[in-house]
Amino acid sequence: MDVERLICDRARAVDASGIRRVFELGATLADPIDLSIGQPDFPVPEAIKRAAIDAIDSDHNGYTRTQGVGELLDALAAWIQRDVGWTVGPAGSGEPTEMMVTSGTSGALMLAFLSLLGPGDEAIIPDPYFVIYPHLARICGGRAVLCQTYPDLQMTAERVEPLITDRTRLVLLNSPSNPGGAVASVRQCRDLLELCRSRGVLLISDEIYDEFTYAEARTDHAAGDQSSARCPSPGRFACAHEDMLLVRGFGKTYGITGWRMGWAAGPRALIEQMAKLQQYTFVCAPAPAQWGSIAALDEDMSGHVAAYQRRRDLVVQRLGAVTDLPRPGGAFYAFVRIPEALGLSGGQFVERCIERNVLVIPGSVFSTRDTHVRLSYATSEQNLLRGLDVLVELLGAQERPSR
Ligand code: PMP
Repeated sequence: MDVERLICDRARAVDASGIRRVFELGATLADPIDLSIGQPDFPVPEAIKRAAIDAIDSDHNGYTRTQGVGELLDALAAWIQRDVGWTVGPAGSGEPTEMMVTSGTSGALMLAFLSLLGPGDEAIIPDPYFVIYPHLARICGGRAVLCQTYPDLQMTAERVEPLITDRTRLVLLNSPSNPGGAVASVRQCRDLLELCRSRGVLLISDEIYDEFTYAEARTDHAAGDQSSARCPSPGRFACAHEDMLLVRGFGKTYGITGWRMGWAAGPRALIEQMAKLQQYTFVCAPAPAQWGSIAALDEDMSGHVAAYQRRRDLVVQRLGAVTDLPRPGGAFYAFVRIPEALGLSGGQFVERCIERNVLVIPGSVFSTRDTHVRLSYATSEQNLLRGLDVLVELLGAQERPSR
């Protein structure tokens, strides 16, 4: 049978060739200095592993309620109350609520897009973007409208406003961002929320990297209490829960990306739709992973965040000498501009890196432009230093005069 003929336009419209090419190239290198990986390199805390293993041993292996196990919902509700001041209960009671546990942060985003975007509807996303964003819109039959954020990679209300049309359903903010590590300021968060409110479109805030926000980009939202300094979020403004969807995950924060754990909180009318769609698709997030995630909420990951901040400083110090690199305030990426004098696209620069056994990702995978590369510093300091030596040499090289 010609199965190829049966593949529908929706699937064909998703082009994953850019990122696949990087993986294929990576596989050809024997022992690459791999700065392409989008997940933490620290070990998963023992208590988290133990809790998931105990869950399996105590037969928590079946389906759970689609919104999540009551104990996790309760723990998350308390977390959300503390962090952004939202009341999203009564979480564990079995009643419909303003929050749900999802199969990864991607699961939450997928469900939100499916609930909000119909054919021809528009989602405003940043450019550069996390790779799945434009495809989510396409899969739903909608259209991603790209908000250009170069050179500072900030998706501000001023940049978003002209893009809003009567087809716009949602605006997607990602702070700290992938690929740039850009953190929105408190004012930017407020202005974007206000803009979305005034135009009647939903703001989705993808805060998967919220814990990886470095000291200078954090703000002290409970006045006078330094220990409460956190990532700025539109969620902290009055009544924000009525007008935005907050999406976060466990994978990056606790090093459990393979467990597929995320959550979403926001207006009940939207969460109800998302929960219904989850019921008929993912069903629920993996049960042992949900139990493990309850233990995760008690873990203090600040030591790892501090270590990543030091690596961030190292990256900025070394690469800042050879190219323009706005200091990333969070996540664990740097989006590095290829100096024009080199006359190389991001893709061509990656080829040079591969010749030197270093793996980074071309900017074109995240953007309509191919002027940058993304490096991840979620790797050992030794690996990072070796990689930076090569990058500094390649970025600092003068273009050879043509003969
Ligand atoms: N949002 C952003 C910005 C990301 O970088 C990622 C993962 N790289 C995700 C969402 C998806 O995360 P998850 O593994 O929880 O689905």
